[in-house]
Amino acid sequence: PDAWDVPLLTEWLTGFRDAVDQAGEELTALDSAIGDADHGSNMRRGLAAAVAAVSQAPPADCGAFFKTVGMSLVSNVGGASGPLYGTLFLRMGTVAGTAGTLAIQLFGECLQAGLDGLVQRGKAQPGDKTMVDAMLPAVRAYDEVAADGGPMVSALTAAAQAAAQGRDGTTPMEAKKGRASYLGERSVGHQDPGATSMTLLFETAAKVFA
Ligand code: ADP
Ligand code: MG
Ligand code: MG
Repeated sequence: PDAWDVPLLTEWLTGFRDAVDQAGEELTALDSAIGDADHGSNMRRGLAAAVAAVSQAPPADCGAFFKTVGMSLVSNVGGASGPLYGTLFLRMGTVAGTAGTLAIQLFGECLQAGLDGLVQRGKAQPGDKTMVDAMLPAVRAYDEVAADGGPMVSALTAAAQAAAQGRDGTTPMEAKKGRASYLGERSVGHQDPGATSMTLLFETAAKVFA
């Protein structure tokens, strides 16, 4: 396939849930160094709820899918990451609307809207040591391949690689947003947990089309 539909989006979500389950201890260890040690459990709880919600009432279209995921994350994750990831998915849902499939161009518009929502909600700039430092380069890399006509798997693979580079780039940064910012200079030298989970989101997306 070269476009998303509800079954493929469901595969993405369940794959992300599995990846976060597997990385749960790592995410918690990263968050214990510069936060409150709950990013793994926050994401696990939210994604379990999201998977349950879409399987209980299978969404009719791509917009409904993203909105169900976003609502589940907002209402089941207490930490900062819930409203941030929640807003990301809700905005993707607004752009997806009643579409049954999302080809390379429209999915790119969804990603851009999701990133815009995340930035509006959290007010993080690039370099602030947050999940934005993984997502922003991922969306740029996706767009570059999409502008050349794809295919989807290439755009998503480029996005996943850029996310991983962005994640690695958070280590030397000093946190300016979220709990890690309370540490000031002591946040330097630690990889950001949210950028780490965000990279799993893009890596899982690439795997769906591989
Ligand atoms: P909490 O910090 O409330 O315990 P989590 O541990 O689940 O929430 O999530 C922490 C992650 O959220 C951070 O690693 C960072 O990537 C992200 N984050 C925190 N604040 C912001 C923000 N204002 N904008 C973007 N991302 C943020
Ligand atoms: Mg935390
Ligand atoms: Mg917390």
